[in-house]
Amino acid sequence: MNAIVVRAFGAPGVMALETLPDPSPSPTQVVVRTRAIGVNPVDVYIRAGSYPRKPPLPYIPGNDASGVVEAIGSQVTGLRVGARVYVAGVADGSGAYAERVVCESSQVYPLPERLSFAQGAAIGGPFATAYRALFMKGLARAGDTVLVHGASGGVGTAAVQLARFRGLRVIGTAGTDKGLALVAEQGAHLALDHTQADYMQQVMTFTSGRGVDVVIEMLANVNLDRDLDVLALRGRVVVVGNRGRIDIDPRKIMGKDGAILGMVMPNTSDDERREIHAALGAGFDSGALTPVVGLELPLADAARAHAAIMEPGAFGKIVLVL
Ligand code: NAP
Repeated sequence: MNAIVVRAFGAPGVMALETLPDPSPSPTQVVVRTRAIGVNPVDVYIRAGSYPRKPPLPYIPGNDASGVVEAIGSQVTGLRVGARVYVAGVADGSGAYAERVVCESSQVYPLPERLSFAQGAAIGGPFATAYRALFMKGLARAGDTVLVHGASGGVGTAAVQLARFRGLRVIGTAGTDKGLALVAEQGAHLALDHTQADYMQQVMTFTSGRGVDVVIEMLANVNLDRDLDVLALRGRVVVVGNRGRIDIDPRKIMGKDGAILGMVMPNTSDDERREIHAALGAGFDSGALTPVVGLELPLADAARAHAAIMEPGAFGKIVLVL
């Protein structure tokens, strides 16, 4: 099979298309013939060598994909060869940037007919992250107001859709006109430009001075201290994304009985995983959730995809297609 292989950490050019032997599943595993692959910022951090958890070299990048089940291990139940699926995580030693990916059976979920393979590749990381951040960490409930701080990308568009689906009032931010239009299309009640000086004041105006119950934060090193200013009493900030350090004034959390919560998806428990994908499946089936794919590139252009995802002006998800 063809696969992108990284033999040394470094710039996007360290990713090379190579031909490797086709994998076969262990008794508990599934091999999926990939049709689309999700490109996530964490793939970039790992490839660059800047992520705390580094795989042994050489490795195949990627955790998200969609495709068709090609082979199943002898102990696997509930999946059949030929089924359309999306993949949320891969088995040790495998990677999604390839024509075939090996997964534990618990990492493979049905892909509804109404979604394309490209859309299926946008589910595993982004939608699961958005669900866990909103409902398992942020404890968001119908009637709450949420600020999705960075709503134009993969996780943000998913968070806006999920929050609307569950009856929240939603404020979302983006940094371009195109991104702002996308955020509004996903159902945000208010779309704000995070490059403007006064946009956090507009959060307070929109909430009549009360503030928001939950912030889903995609760039904490820039925004965390200001998030605390717009938090309602007993509000929660969930740190999803961060690219550096920041000073905060802890008094702002004390005064509001507030909380700052962190999360990374590898810490998701089996129970949480079951709940997340059952809830997402219901949302996809009902038509309430529809992943947004902004850019499709061939697998061989993985380096271009890595450069693109680090540029400002996010527009949904970047996927590699086969
Ligand atoms: P993405 O598709 O590249 O989107 C990035 C988002 O951040 C865009 O909406 C972008 O808006 C926004 N942004 C840029 N500058 C901002 C600012 N000053 N304030 C607020 N938002 C800003 O990435 P993604 O897949 O959605 O992931 C978002 C972040 O979460 C990344 O840092 C990623 O590493 C992290 N993440 C963490 C987990 C976890 O387990 N904790 C899981 C998935 C992702 P514009 O481009 O429109 O300016």
